[in-house]
Amino acid sequence: MVRVSPRVVVLAGGVGGSKFVLGVREALRRRGVDDTAAALTVVVNTGDDLWLSGVRLQPDVDSITYALAGVNDAERGWGRAGDSERVGRELQQWGAGWPWFTLGDLDLGTHLARTGWLRDGLTPTQVLERMSHRWPLGARLLPMTDAEVDTIVVVEDGSRLHFQEWWTRHRAGLTPTRFENPGIEVASAAPGVVKAIASADVILIAPSNPVVSIGPILAVPGLRDVLASAAAPVVGVSPIIGGKVVRGMADVCLTAIGVETSASAVAAHYGSRGSGGVLDAWLLAEEDAAVAPDVAGRGIRPLVAPLWMTDAVASAAIAEVALGAAGL
Ligand code: GDP
Ligand code: CA
Repeated sequence: MVRVSPRVVVLAGGVGGSKFVLGVREALRRRGVDDTAAALTVVVNTGDDLWLSGVRLQPDVDSITYALAGVNDAERGWGRAGDSERVGRELQQWGAGWPWFTLGDLDLGTHLARTGWLRDGLTPTQVLERMSHRWPLGARLLPMTDAEVDTIVVVEDGSRLHFQEWWTRHRAGLTPTRFENPGIEVASAAPGVVKAIASADVILIAPSNPVVSIGPILAVPGLRDVLASAAAPVVGVSPIIGGKVVRGMADVCLTAIGVETSASAVAAHYGSRGSGGVLDAWLLAEEDAAVAPDVAGRGIRPLVAPLWMTDAVASAAIAEVALGAAGL
């Protein structure tokens, strides 16, 4: 019998997204899927991409690429393992870039390669496709859009900051009142995204920041409609465990858009597909099992599992539950 591999699509941001994607790839391998790159498509947030010192940075794309390649700095949580910062220091001496924004030397190599190809006329999708050849990633990565979309944070005093400045320089310490993605209203999904979602067997929403990682993906015009009409179930994984964000400052983002930092409030924010939202099922941490009836009451099927992605084995166990929810 020829075994047909499942077609899995994951919507993902950077750090939480990459840990989850590693788990999904592992879960597929355990199912005997040899060519995981053909089975697994990751639609990556590009809302926090930026130009800095003349190069194009794609933080979430790079986090996922490095993690799948096994060259990421797992301890620090971003960038390449064993990187140095000679070039970054030199840029600072020139007063170029942002003094509070570290650029690793190996990382800069990535940015230079990407920028060169963009300047040669390749689209972001084509650049990412090319970048996926260096290491056997075992997944196909697609940017959410080929358009340049920023994330702007409007803070209490009315000033507007680039997301990276707010997040990295101010450590999300300035109270945000709004997040904006200028340019997104005229953006469209990158080539391949709609087809991947429409022909998937399951669509997974990674435990990524709901506001600044998954939010921009869902804000790409048309994507919500594609999700709404997809034949496959949509299964989300909670980035909240025990009423807290695991790491990072997603709670500040949630508060700004009026969503409580709880697993059920985030599920409600995504909403059930039956009532104009995007979810069919929602993986809750064991610590949040008490809110399962609340999630069910919103028309979303709750599933309870350990959600700590401490290593690839733990992430794979989470992915197993998510795939299982789709009957895969
Ligand atoms: P970023 O783009 O680098 O900020 O990363 P993401 O948006 O992909 O992920 C950030 C989110 O991951 C945060 O909101 C965390 O709550 C969540 N997260 C990080 N580690 C874990 C984990 O071990 N388990 C779960 N469930 N969520 C996690
Ligand atoms: Ca990000």
